[in-house]
Amino acid sequence: MNADRPLLEVNALKKHFPIHGGLLGQVTAKVYAVDGVTFDIRRGETLSLVGESGCGKSTVGKAILRLFSLTEGEVYLDGERIDNMRAGKLRMMRKRVQVVFQDPFSSLNPRMRVRDILAEPLVNFGMVHGRRDLNEKVEALMDKVRLPRDAINRFPHEFSGGQRQRIGIARALAPGADLIICDEAVSALDVSVKAQIINLLADLQDELGLALLFISHDLATVEHLTHRVAVMYLGKIVELTDRRTLFAESHHPYTRALLSAVPVPDPTARRQRVILKGDVPSPINPPTGCRFHTRCPFVFDRCRVEEPLLRPVGDGHLSACHLNQVPGGQVLPTAA
Ligand code: SF4
Repeated sequence: MNADRPLLEVNALKKHFPIHGGLLGQVTAKVYAVDGVTFDIRRGETLSLVGESGCGKSTVGKAILRLFSLTEGEVYLDGERIDNMRAGKLRMMRKRVQVVFQDPFSSLNPRMRVRDILAEPLVNFGMVHGRRDLNEKVEALMDKVRLPRDAINRFPHEFSGGQRQRIGIARALAPGADLIICDEAVSALDVSVKAQIINLLADLQDELGLALLFISHDLATVEHLTHRVAVMYLGKIVELTDRRTLFAESHHPYTRALLSAVPVPDPTARRQRVILKGDVPSPINPPTGCRFHTRCPFVFDRCRVEEPLLRPVGDGHLSACHLNQVPGGQVLPTAA
């Protein structure tokens, strides 16, 4: 363990998917799914990756898990480069980085009892010594996610959606993960169950010092869980800062638009909704200059030709917008 470095470092990650066409199946175009993303996560920290569907956030998670190779960039876990690891060492990396997906039903084998679902990673990673040890470890996992021990002989279809997500979390904890990637892990749950799962993740983080990469299309979901937020648009991070700053003093027009859709708890308070025009452009042919310029309410000439870089605009606060360089420009006018 390298205590001076973040647990996870992602440097200039790019993932472009080729599109094959023509008679010879040659590459005719590319999907620029992730196009130069940099961030890190410390032990015990939650970083949320937030953006609309198709912005590349799930591709970032899958690239960290090495479900495919990177086009460019580097990923380090505990100071060790993992994006080019060979198969033998990759196995140890997979023990430390686990994932919880949106749909627990399709990610849990319907023919396996919960006991076997949780036993599988324990056995595969050589973490048990005999049947009694295995049973104790499976029961301890059930305790951790607050499921009754006597449910271990049931099948996934005998549980509710929230309970199935608890099984998914227990399976991710089984190998002793340091980092859990939660890919829209609560998006399919109703509001009260969603809150219970978020509270469970927060408690587990306190207890185990877990780092969480929380991928979500919804800022409201991450508000009570996250330490920092990275907002993605069309394959790039456009703003990255701590939770308080993001919700109180966001700089980027896209973040402002996402925030305007977050419900305000006080019914007497008013928040002006920013309705973005048009759809997210295709990642096959992203706009020149600022990728957000086709929808931005504050677009000006420079935005169409020059890409804004992600620059510091405050302590630990990065934003990619030309308005940040206009004196007073970071205080955005109210959108019409
Ligand atoms: Fe809008 Fe221009 Fe800023 Fe992009 S650079 S977010 S188009 S003002």
